[in-house]
Amino acid sequence: VKNYLEGVMKANYHSHSYFCDGHGEPEAYYDRAKELGFDAIGMSGHAPLPFETDWTMAPGRLSEYSERIRGLADEDGPEIYLGLEIDYIHGLMSPGDDRPLYRDLDYRIGSVHFLGSDGQRATVDGPLEEMDFLHNEVFGGSSRSLVEAFYAQVRAMIDGGGFDILGHFDLVKKNNRGNRYFNPDDSWYRDAVMQTLETLDGSGVLLEINTGGLSRGTTDSVYPEPWILGEAAKRDIDIVYSADAHRPEHIDFAFDLAEDVARDAGFRSRRILVGGSWRETDLHHS
Ligand SMILES: [Zn+2]
Ligand SMILES: [Zn+2]
Repeated sequence: VKNYLEGVMKANYHSHSYFCDGHGEPEAYYDRAKELGFDAIGMSGHAPLPFETDWTMAPGRLSEYSERIRGLADEDGPEIYLGLEIDYIHGLMSPGDDRPLYRDLDYRIGSVHFLGSDGQRATVDGPLEEMDFLHNEVFGGSSRSLVEAFYAQVRAMIDGGGFDILGHFDLVKKNNRGNRYFNPDDSWYRDAVMQTLETLDGSGVLLEINTGGLSRGTTDSVYPEPWILGEAAKRDIDIVYSADAHRPEHIDFAFDLAEDVARDAGFRSRRILVGGSWRETDLHHS
């Protein structure tokens, strides 16, 4: 078995415990990170929303969450970081919002899951019915409008700033297996992606290579697609590896693949949060 990170820094900052839709106590994630010899682990529960869902944290649990994560610190174990994955929902909330509840965070992941507006809002990565609803009801049967709206939201989120990691860049592909809604080879799709990379370039926001679709069997490749990573590498956009783990055993899922994909795309380094700051660490040589 290939040991993907022999002698190099190991870390994951995209982890969901039972405080939101993950399976397992924060302690189980920390113990697993310690077992794997991680240098750092970050917990990134789904931030509370202004409306109810079955996958985000209840607002009343945020202080308990914060205390539990802080309490994990162990002198012999990995560094522990307190984060949240915060939704960008146009007109409602942004990952850069200045809220008392976010005051103690070490880092923030900014993600677009929702499209649509009040009364007509649904996620692009939820059950197929939600994507169908968006496609049929909100975007009048136009996949192109839906996808372009998704990337426009991502750009608006990046423009707003105030967060560290861009969550799953091309999440809109999740329900598109077999090109159910759109063909990613179409020029308009590439244009939407390129325009979003231009916005990301120079923003200081890190692009994650997210293996969460692979660990949950919902995608056949990492987020974002390798060709998008190639374009990002040309622009010297910085990357971070993210497991988007919803189980403790997934905190390093397919990180060997992430490393291969990153190197093939042309990256020579990635970022890790250690000692309180985002540092550069070299990719290993194959
Ligand atoms: Zn997410
Ligand atoms: Zn996540």
